[in-house]
Amino acid sequence: MKSPVPDYLQAVIDSVRSLTGGAVADYIPELAGANPERLAIAIATVEGAVYVAGDSKERFSIQSMSKPFTYALAIADRGLAEVAQHIDVEPSGEAFNEISLETGTGRPRNPMINAGAIAAHSLIAADSAAQRDARVHDFYSRFAGRELALDAELMQSEQSTGDRNLALGHLLKSFGVIDQDPVAAVNGYIRQCSLTVDVADLALMAATLANGGVQPVTGERLVDPLIVRQVLSVMTTCGMYDAAGDWLTTVGIPAKSGVSGGIIGVLPGQVGIAVFSPRLDSHGNSVRGVAMMERLSRDMNLHIMDAARPARSAMRSRRRVRAGGENATVFELQGDLVFVSTEALIRNAVDNPPDTELVVFDLSRVDEITDVARRMSIAATERLKADGKRVVLVDPRKIIAPLTLPDGTSPATLDSLEELEAGGSP
Ligand code: GLN
Repeated sequence: MKSPVPDYLQAVIDSVRSLTGGAVADYIPELAGANPERLAIAIATVEGAVYVAGDSKERFSIQSMSKPFTYALAIADRGLAEVAQHIDVEPSGEAFNEISLETGTGRPRNPMINAGAIAAHSLIAADSAAQRDARVHDFYSRFAGRELALDAELMQSEQSTGDRNLALGHLLKSFGVIDQDPVAAVNGYIRQCSLTVDVADLALMAATLANGGVQPVTGERLVDPLIVRQVLSVMTTCGMYDAAGDWLTTVGIPAKSGVSGGIIGVLPGQVGIAVFSPRLDSHGNSVRGVAMMERLSRDMNLHIMDAARPARSAMRSRRRVRAGGENATVFELQGDLVFVSTEALIRNAVDNPPDTELVVFDLSRVDEITDVARRMSIAATERLKADGKRVVLVDPRKIIAPLTLPDGTSPATLDSLEELEAGGSP
């Protein structure tokens, strides 16, 4: 059997080919010379499956799609609190190269615009600008799962025409937002923008964010989940510049566009997406890229506001069994223990208190437990104990065990219900 996914991606490509609006960025010859007809798409799942269609071998500069990754590295190096002192997280509602600095402090509005990206680059820990460049290069390459190449000509062009970015760099220095040489900071930022990628690279980079910071193919953890959350939040509110609100309502996934015509999108827990087509709209976002993302979002239910399925009760069944010569109430649980599913389980026990002394929670079919569900489980177990119950867990994969109560005790834990049914009273 052949996977239907590539055929679907091809259909998405074909459906936007007739859109010829917008214009290729023309501020430097390397971008102006891009073939405007190029069109490509890729999706990478959190399991590491990669699907491509169109001109997927075409390489182009990563440009502003680099910004989320540099921001992630800056936070990994400095911690969120320190980075936040230098770069805010508010949407600017302005173009990418606007002088969006906070009045008084000069703090850039967010890390997805140039001012914030230059500041983020300068925060990366290094002994020299060259070492900083190397760290960025290596970091992006790990996200892509292969060594990325630098487009040196494009970099030189950008550096020799980068007056606006240099102005931003000098302003940041004058406000004390960056403490290094502003020319070096801007050159480093431009170098990061000049690393080249194809859509599969970008999809894997995005999928690493979708996968909580673990590269889906290499299995390498590149950033902590909390950093991923920070980066995706900022991409959601600021990633599409002054079109961010329109983007969130229509496409609805954290995303970042670049002036080369690429857009990356991240659906947390599911996929990373990359699209590419060089003609840009007035916001600097790829015209066909936006159209492809809109279509994917509609067809594949990617919008984060509809992605969440209502959490169901964690209770698969509740029954009475004879175990070790006595009666027991067994709650068989399933799925993920999150706030709502755990609340439904506890409500069942509150409304209809178990009438046996022995109460068993069978977690054999539970996949994951959130921190809040763990705290709720501890509190519920304490209360059951206070009501004179003996709680036993069946938890072969140690999803919840050891569940340590505030008094230091933990409920007995078994590997299977059979152990309880066969054995004596635990
Ligand atoms: N190199 C570009 C610049 O800083 C990147 C901008 C972008 O992709 N929007 O001007």
